[in-house]
Amino acid sequence: MRMKLITFAALALFMAGCTTIGTIPPTPVTADNPEPRTIWLSEMAAELGWTYVEGPGAYDYTLSGPKGDNVVFEAGSDIININGTQWRQERDAFGRRRDLMLPESTFNFVCEHFGRYDLVRAPKRETSPDYVLEPIRPLSEDKPSDKPKATSTVLQGLTICIDAGHGGTDPGGIGHGVQEKDVVLPVSLMLQELCEAASARVIMTRTSDMYPELDKRCEIANNGKCDLFISIHANISPTDESVTGIEVFYNQNSEPAALFAKALAGSLHTATGAVNRGAKKDPRGLRVLEKTKMTATLVELGFLSNAQEAKLLSQKQYQQKLAKALYDGVVATWTRNRASVSK
Ligand SMILES: [Zn+2]
Repeated sequence: MRMKLITFAALALFMAGCTTIGTIPPTPVTADNPEPRTIWLSEMAAELGWTYVEGPGAYDYTLSGPKGDNVVFEAGSDIININGTQWRQERDAFGRRRDLMLPESTFNFVCEHFGRYDLVRAPKRETSPDYVLEPIRPLSEDKPSDKPKATSTVLQGLTICIDAGHGGTDPGGIGHGVQEKDVVLPVSLMLQELCEAASARVIMTRTSDMYPELDKRCEIANNGKCDLFISIHANISPTDESVTGIEVFYNQNSEPAALFAKALAGSLHTATGAVNRGAKKDPRGLRVLEKTKMTATLVELGFLSNAQEAKLLSQKQYQQKLAKALYDGVVATWTRNRASVSK
């Protein structure tokens, strides 16, 4: 009896010294949803149209909304802090180079918390996980070798939105066994690295095999107050397999976009030797060119319907060449026409 009292007293004392921590409900695990899903913080920020930075602590990341809201995550911890209130996640956040892997239930919870019910994800439908778990490492260990430092300031002040076309259930065009979504994502991620190394602020509409709606892609770019928008695609010619080359579309009414498109087509042609089909006024009213409020282009990297070009487009080396060429076009645009594209 006495033992019980002491235990009780100790527990009461312990409880009194603690602040209560709310628990985020985990995504239910069912036959349809066998693995708890994850989401990258970078994706989460892109979906919300928010930004994130490292800090304030050594292993912390702060996600910030436009109205002063913030959510602080810590690598290796299951505690998050939403506007000063602590919540316990389904499980720990995993740190990776300048990014964090979080339970998807956390993303859903944060969206609901801020009234963004439109972003809440349905439970998992696929059977295999779409991520690879990495061991927890303190982020400070990553810093010397792993984190690419900005090596130049040539894109300082630029905010660019990179939109990898299609994704998830939408493969885009398919030719000679190559899916468009599998070409445009790696090129987009390579372009992101190059732009960040040149001190640009980069906003991605997707960084994994997922499909954001077209309107959402525009919203992400508009909310991010981007100066430039580049949507990356590959082409299909339904009737003629011999057609090859690069083309870049821009909004009919935007003179800066015409110049941006021309710079991109030119640098892609120079780097790859592929046919330059030119910078063209968008004849189709493409949503991402109509609804984005900044200087916007849509790049077609080549034709998947052509066997030779499909093979090239699937090769990492060629993808790197394309990304570098896109980067060169961005640099040319930012250094020459900064005044007309800058927000
Ligand atoms: Zn496409």
